[in-house]
Amino acid sequence: MPDIRPTAGSGALVLNATYEPLCVVSVRRAAILVLSAKAVCVADGDGVLHSARNALPVPSVVRLTRFVRVPYRTHVGLSRRAIFARDGWRCAYCRGPAETIDHVFPRSRGGRHAWENVVAACARCNHTKGDKTPAELGWRLHSLPAAPKGTAWRVLGHRAPDPRWADWLDLREPEVAA
Ligand SMILES: [Zn+2]
Repeated sequence: MPDIRPTAGSGALVLNATYEPLCVVSVRRAAILVLSAKAVCVADGDGVLHSARNALPVPSVVRLTRFVRVPYRTHVGLSRRAIFARDGWRCAYCRGPAETIDHVFPRSRGGRHAWENVVAACARCNHTKGDKTPAELGWRLHSLPAAPKGTAWRVLGHRAPDPRWADWLDLREPEVAA
């Protein structure tokens, strides 16, 4: 086992043999894939990892040497961070900085906890809204909430992408109305 000190907070993008993005793993895990010839490094990160015998540039993107068939999750998990990321950390009602999660159709009245019914909201709007619907208050949503889609979301979830991964991920701006 190589003596690889993980770089704090960093990850490496793993591509299939076909260059299709698969997932993000720790830099340590990516280095082990490269050292065991299960993957080749296609983009270096910052710094060098040392093992007993080798010095290896920190991998930022690795490609598997053999194709793996991966069943994809069909939808992105609904989490607080994922909702903030989808909505650009902005309140769905006033566009101010969001600090809370609001159920558009209130949960107390049967609203579902689902991508289509949750938005990021500032504390003030959330408090004012209470158990009312936007229509009852004459409020409008800036965009209709929906489950996020696309390769970047499938691979990264709410994680912020490393700019070095842009060539392999479909990094469009999140669909948040201006
Ligand atoms: Zn607000």
